[in-house]
Amino acid sequence: SDRVETLEFQAEARQLLQLMVHSIYSNKDVFLRELISNASDALDKLRLASLVDKDLAVDTSDLHIEIEVDRDARTLTVRDNGIGMSRDEVVGLIGTIAKSGTAELLRTLREAKDAGASPELIGQFGVGFYATFMVADKVTLLTRRAGESGGTRWESTGEGTYSIEAVDEAPPGTSVTLHLKPADTEDNLHDYTAEWTIREVVKRYSDFIAWPIRMTVERPGEGDATTRETQTLNSMKALWARSRDEVDEAEYQEFYKHVSHDWADPLETIHMRGEGTFEYEALLFLPSHAPLDLFAPQGRRGVQLYVKRVFIMADCDALMPNYLRFVKGVVDAHDLSLNISREILQQDRQIRAVRRRLVKKVLATLKDMPAESYRTFWTEFGAVVKEGLLEDTDNTEALLDLVRAASTHDPAELTTLRAYVERMKDGQREIYYATGESRGTIENSPHLEAFRAKGYEVLILTDPVDEVWVERVGQYDGKPLRSVAKGQVDLETDEEKAKTEAERKDYAELLTWLTGALADSVKEVRLSARLTASPACVVGDAHDMTPTLEKMYRAMGQ
Ligand code: ADP
Ligand code: MG
Repeated sequence: SDRVETLEFQAEARQLLQLMVHSIYSNKDVFLRELISNASDALDKLRLASLVDKDLAVDTSDLHIEIEVDRDARTLTVRDNGIGMSRDEVVGLIGTIAKSGTAELLRTLREAKDAGASPELIGQFGVGFYATFMVADKVTLLTRRAGESGGTRWESTGEGTYSIEAVDEAPPGTSVTLHLKPADTEDNLHDYTAEWTIREVVKRYSDFIAWPIRMTVERPGEGDATTRETQTLNSMKALWARSRDEVDEAEYQEFYKHVSHDWADPLETIHMRGEGTFEYEALLFLPSHAPLDLFAPQGRRGVQLYVKRVFIMADCDALMPNYLRFVKGVVDAHDLSLNISREILQQDRQIRAVRRRLVKKVLATLKDMPAESYRTFWTEFGAVVKEGLLEDTDNTEALLDLVRAASTHDPAELTTLRAYVERMKDGQREIYYATGESRGTIENSPHLEAFRAKGYEVLILTDPVDEVWVERVGQYDGKPLRSVAKGQVDLETDEEKAKTEAERKDYAELLTWLTGALADSVKEVRLSARLTASPACVVGDAHDMTPTLEKMYRAMGQ
């Protein structure tokens, strides 16, 4: 009919689909997890919408997920009666990849593939709905958005285009039908039309899903007859509400993947409960790698907020400070109104109290992490955690103890500030640091010469945020943090000082002349105690901006 349109996938989506069709990910079972996860999200959204908008005419009495197989047609359908999608949403959400950083993702994946690296790399990126094309050669989606009368039918073989069609009759919610590839091909696919396969996969990946996942199964009845009965495949236990010893590691990991949309395992799990005036349960995770949108302003941030098991919102930024935006998980607060808005949350006294507790717990967990995991953590998230030194003055001490920095002491290992202080030379009063773009440029800079000659250790700081936090914090353990590139560095003994003073007199005329001659470029020319090999270097005043900062501000258009 003329209501069918054929549209092209966005270029990046096409490339990602290519990878799926040629299934570079070895664990194909996870397509079902992705579909169930989407269905569960859709049910959460519908329940919330019905609570907030009393005029929305929807039936929420039996929200559930249904799995149906047709062994003869070799199809598998996952159906939900959740929020559904409008036509534009289908095009925008399924036909394109809106997430920032996708281009880099694809480049990394392609490079990894070329290099013969583990295809599990793709596990680091959620591919969500597209995972269906690992097991299906055609996918049909039928959906109707809550509150709308007509529906939308979408279909694709995953090869560049999809068709989209308006339909009059569509049940509320969404159904996704996979036309399965032949079983037992060289890819060694499981038979996803077999009851026990589905049972096992659901149990393994989706047991904690809060909505019933149902399937109708056949059982031998009297004589030749078969009886059909509908069973619920998952236990639906909210993981965060259980006690730690009732939950095993695998369950935590699968739950993490559901809430984070990550395919890799978390680095650390934090399961806590708050009692007293304000009750809550929290199940938080530290990811093992940074998401691509970590520094994107529109990136997903924060944890999910529930009120007594009812999903309220994803990305609840009121519960985590910006510098802990990579923390994923769920907070279930017992005494909040279901109607609470984001704006009100930010102001809510109780939410702020919970947030303080969560932050303390996350920082304490980081402090106690095994060295190996912490190294991974710091590599991935260190630059973000350091933003905390600007934002969160209540926790400055704890944050300073988390800082790891490169240093001239050891080219291979990062150091803590504590260890730096313990290595300080007799008579050294300050903690020296150098900032710049890379370790290489910093080490070759003439600023370091005098420090090297003295045997003083210098911290090597290369993240843009470093310049800002060292200024802001100013000191550690009573020792001033001092840039090697700013102001007068006092590295001299009294004897050396006397010598310099004498030299200054000898060279006074020359210096005055040089200062005059270079007046357009520099404020002053003076004798230096910093240099041992280079003839001259340019230094900033103690309160000047450093070149890196200047560059940063210029890049920001200021
Ligand atoms: P993600 O779940 O990580 O956002 P997906 O590729 O799994 O990515 O899904 C993309 C989007 O499509 C979802 O965010 C959601 O808005 C929409 N979507 C997918 N499945 C459903 C569904 N069953 N019901 C409603 N919306 C859905
Ligand atoms: Mg998804």
